[in-house]
Amino acid sequence: MTRKFTGNEIRQSFIDFFVEQQHTVVPSASLVPGGDATLLFTNSGMVQFKDVFLGTDKRPYTRAVDSQKCMRVAGKHNDLDDVGRDDWHHTFFEMLGNWSFGDYYKKEAIAWSWQLLTDVWGIPKDRLYATCFKDEKGDIPTDEDAANSWRQQPGMDASRVLYFGRKENFWEMAETGPCGPCSEIHIDRGEEFCDLKGKPHNCGVNGDCQRFLELWNNVFIQYNRLDATTLEPLPATHVDTGMGFERIVATLQGVDSNYKTDLFQGALDVLLSLTGVSRDKMYADFTPYRVIADHARAAAFLIADGVVPGNTGRNYVCRMIIRRAARFGTKIGLHEPFLSKVADAFIEQYGTFYPELEKHSQAIRDSLTREEIRFSRTVESGTAYLQGMLDDLRRRGKTVLEGNKAFDLYATYGLPLEISRDIAREQGLEVDESGFRAAMDEHRIASGAGKAMGALGGEDAEFFTGIAKVLQASGRLSPQGVSYDPYNDLEINGEILALIVDGQSVNEAQFGDSVEVIIPRTGFYIESGGQVSDHGYIKGPDWEIEITDVRRPSPGLIVHMGEVISGKPKVGDKAVAEVNKSRRHDIMRNHTATHLMHAALHQVLGEHARQAGSLVAPDHLRFDFNHSEAMTAEQIEQVERLVNEAVAADFVVQPKLKAREEAIAEGAMALFGEKYGETVRTITIKDDADADKPHSYELCGGTHLERTSDVGAFIITSEGSAAAGIRRIEAVTGRGAYDLIARRTRLLKRTASTLKSSLEEIPHKVDVLMDDLAVARKQVSALRAELAKVAFNDQMKQVEKVKDVSVLAMEIPNADADTLRALADQFREKHPTSALCVLGTVMDDKPTLIAAVTEDLVKRGLKAGDLVKFVAEPMGGGGGGKPTLAQAGGKDASKLPEALRSVKGWVESKVK
Ligand SMILES: [Zn+2]
Ligand SMILES: [Zn+2]
Repeated sequence: MTRKFTGNEIRQSFIDFFVEQQHTVVPSASLVPGGDATLLFTNSGMVQFKDVFLGTDKRPYTRAVDSQKCMRVAGKHNDLDDVGRDDWHHTFFEMLGNWSFGDYYKKEAIAWSWQLLTDVWGIPKDRLYATCFKDEKGDIPTDEDAANSWRQQPGMDASRVLYFGRKENFWEMAETGPCGPCSEIHIDRGEEFCDLKGKPHNCGVNGDCQRFLELWNNVFIQYNRLDATTLEPLPATHVDTGMGFERIVATLQGVDSNYKTDLFQGALDVLLSLTGVSRDKMYADFTPYRVIADHARAAAFLIADGVVPGNTGRNYVCRMIIRRAARFGTKIGLHEPFLSKVADAFIEQYGTFYPELEKHSQAIRDSLTREEIRFSRTVESGTAYLQGMLDDLRRRGKTVLEGNKAFDLYATYGLPLEISRDIAREQGLEVDESGFRAAMDEHRIASGAGKAMGALGGEDAEFFTGIAKVLQASGRLSPQGVSYDPYNDLEINGEILALIVDGQSVNEAQFGDSVEVIIPRTGFYIESGGQVSDHGYIKGPDWEIEITDVRRPSPGLIVHMGEVISGKPKVGDKAVAEVNKSRRHDIMRNHTATHLMHAALHQVLGEHARQAGSLVAPDHLRFDFNHSEAMTAEQIEQVERLVNEAVAADFVVQPKLKAREEAIAEGAMALFGEKYGETVRTITIKDDADADKPHSYELCGGTHLERTSDVGAFIITSEGSAAAGIRRIEAVTGRGAYDLIARRTRLLKRTASTLKSSLEEIPHKVDVLMDDLAVARKQVSALRAELAKVAFNDQMKQVEKVKDVSVLAMEIPNADADTLRALADQFREKHPTSALCVLGTVMDDKPTLIAAVTEDLVKRGLKAGDLVKFVAEPMGGGGGGKPTLAQAGGKDASKLPEALRSVKGWVESKVK
């Protein structure tokens, strides 16, 4: 192999090669198969073309090329057991394929695969073997067509064309339906790859050891199977090919593991830098790294296709692989959430070809981190509990853990079967899988039926008013309802008053349930005034609920919404409600910064720049305000600087309850359209030394910092229009500002390293590059004109005589109007008298025509302007110019050939 291709280049060269052979590029189908309920995930390239082979669907093309995202983790193709243990298996992988739907067949498919592997990719010919079908039962004809084609390939020795039977070389979609022989290409990687040396074994194609690898399968669909013994030929034959992408990349890069290709390098580098382990040490204990890399990549692609961690089906798989990766992370010393960083490396590696990764990158990072945090809160107690079970199992002299016990671990601690099994296997034990599944099914039925207080129902508000009445009548809830103090009560003790699952009140909730929780008091902030609701946890003695939203469905009642992440919470259990303090702190930074920015906008733009809408979230803030035109760059910078100055000044932030009239008389900024009670909360931001003149004074129910310096830093990320007369600013503070700076610095560093420059030199380098590009573009267009001239000289032989007039009408591809004019001059030099030409071209889908007529013809009444007008008519265009040279445009480029054909008729009608 002459040169090392990158993985991305290999994928692209596969696609480019088949595009050259007139194939249409088809994007990968989603990992979630559309309209195929029998399939958990898309698991081969064939899935999206199945209906074409069955004859129930038609495509606008007969040749296609693609790279299909595939996932094999459950069902018939289950590779999970092998993932991590070896260098070749993946849960997620890509399948390269070229497809013929009743178009080309064996001869072309074989010749092209040979050409791509040996010419384009440079694999030595003497290392490749081809296998063809020969029926061991003698019922189906031997595929001599394929074998002969192989023997005809340049450099393919007949001894390397082998025959195999039904198992290896006959493909069937199902018990009946389309089927046919296949032909595989194998590579001999060399004796050093034989891992069974010295032992008696089949050291050959389809053998026992690692020396020979299958690279590419070409399936030739030519029969329709009616029953076990009857095949009938299909009226149209098809080609379906599949080449494992990771494997061909490993082959072409000459590495002994898929995980050592550049596809995985970015992700493994992240792990190396997080663990501080050396590369050699990682290779010596490669399993955890392979599992993490594989699962993080798979999870990123799944989330990009809309699969989120959950308790059933695809969602369970997503949850399971994230948790499995997280557990292998703890084995190499990673105890904080880390998978989003690994996923980032994959988003960078794959994002150009699979833009859904870039598009959903935030969702990918968030889902991964959230699931890791949930798991980290229960994994220790879960594995300790499992260890107890395994010890007990050994004492009882058994080796297989009962399925219902493994299910208990899942239902209580969220420990998926696959992880319990990993841990058991590490100790030479097993888990009863079918017992686990049976217990899971039973649980689903039980939890569906177990509605205790199911009598209540109906409309949301009505439902909750009913619950409040029951609770108040029993004296467990005060007549005023749930007490609410988000300013002080970040951690409170209480008792579970009610649990609601699926809109039904229940006595007990289970692991994984989406649940609504009512407790007598709360400090969780309820979204209002733009500030989002708090997140946090409600915990009992042996269970935990992750809270991700809070609402007030009816007056006096506050409901916490979340998911049970461990154990089985029950009504009446003692509980602690804890607001996520670091998230709340991020929100407070953004809220205080919002007030500072509001004040700064007044200073820079004027008093009219009043708040028209606001969002205060942990990761950013958004602020809409009245202003009729876009802010200038200077104004934006000025606002940003004023806010940062107020931050550095370390002003004090003071909340105070006041009578509404008094606060408004004092000049507090009130928001138009907000309803305020008689007593209002005000937020004053002021300098300790100059307390009489507040920096900012607003009516606000939100939560704030004590001092402005706690904002840290304030960066405006965008300014734009939100609606007519309303502008919108988005900004970040504190940790969000740090992340933004870090991300931008990384981008700059990457750009600098691509440009081979320092950060400071980037602008200069880019200027130089832009200049170079402009020069290169000019040269290209000059060369193009030159080429057109040469081609045109050649074409001038096509001049025809209409009576005594020499006529040329032709299309010049890739030319612009200037080039056409130059060519028309060239024509007149060659034909100075009694000659005319019409030249046409299409640029950006618009046709252009130039007509040139010699002087003597003008005198005979043949004018270029008339000619070009007549000719341009079918294209829906018009034009004009001098009698000797005229130009016309048009709308319909497809009519250009027809327009050019009409030239001769015009000349005939004019020449007497
Ligand atoms: Zn061998
Ligand atoms: Zn506020």
